[in-house]
Amino acid sequence: MTKYEAVIIGGGPAGLTAGLYTSRAGLKSLLVERGMFGGQIVNARLVENYPGFPEGISGFELGSLMHQQATRYGLEVITAEVTGLAVGQPYRIFTTEGNFEGETIIIATGSEYRKLGVAGEERLLGPGVSYCATCDGFLFREREVAVVGGGDTAITDALELSQHAHKVYVIHRRDQLRAGQVLQQRAFAKPELEFIWDTVMEEIVGEETVNVLRLRNVKTRQLSMLQVAGVFVAVGLKPNSQGFAGIVQLDETEHIVTDESMATSVPGIFAAGDIRKNSARQIATAVGDGAAAAMSAFKYLQG
Ligand code: NAP
Repeated sequence: MTKYEAVIIGGGPAGLTAGLYTSRAGLKSLLVERGMFGGQIVNARLVENYPGFPEGISGFELGSLMHQQATRYGLEVITAEVTGLAVGQPYRIFTTEGNFEGETIIIATGSEYRKLGVAGEERLLGPGVSYCATCDGFLFREREVAVVGGGDTAITDALELSQHAHKVYVIHRRDQLRAGQVLQQRAFAKPELEFIWDTVMEEIVGEETVNVLRLRNVKTRQLSMLQVAGVFVAVGLKPNSQGFAGIVQLDETEHIVTDESMATSVPGIFAAGDIRKNSARQIATAVGDGAAAAMSAFKYLQG
């Protein structure tokens, strides 16, 4: 089993930054990522709030640049799914591409799209149900679509979809958006956007593709039907912490509890980015977490 001083699980901004720092600190380092390097940000058409890019940068390009920079200093990367983690020095990491030992572990597995769990959501995934406006928005040119949610993602998606679709309904369970003020102002100024407040989606109806959404007003309990060609679900993120329950301490929302040095409840295991309790869930903060976790891993190894 190949032994590393630092094994990083997850190749988003937090993990890639951790890998950049551990490898530059001279630690023999491995990063394991199951999908695309860059994590969630690869789906962002334009990132406008990451410092250093005044005109904004596509999430895909930013992820590629972070990957390129991280691997310049000896960080080894593999594409594999982590299937288990055994505690005890050194830690053992089991993956679909072999098993490894790590003297320290940095968990940076981020989060994934939260699903609503309503009828039709899973069955019509692809032909009409999507979690990624950047990926699928162009399919709805001159059609009518809906977005469910009221956060930054929902409003960013709605604005992006308004460039393709001729009408975008935003269905939100309250009468106020959670999204930031700048996005709200942009959204309210767009004639293509129509807000359906205090409403939840109970069912997605359609045979081969989406035809109708069954909606319920949460205040009046009144049912209504909305005809659309597609629906984008943007109701937040779920932490990818399943494999770590029972190993490190999680909070009630299944995020990993850390102190300010990114240390988890187990010595030698650190966590960084969206997976952490109270993460601000921004690229800039994930990058900061990754650097801090790497520096803490280095200190831990120094004894
Ligand atoms: P979020 O901030 O957690 O918002 C989720 C939205 O979905 C909320 O409006 C919530 O309603 C709604 N929701 C949750 N569960 C629901 C359910 N079961 N049924 C109906 N509605 C439901 O998630 P996000 O928008 O994906 O953002 C995640 C993080 O990424 C945030 O920190 C955000 O700031 C960041 N982000 C930033 C940008 C940017 O441009 N700066 C872009 C995207 C994301 P309530 O409001 O009623 O809770």
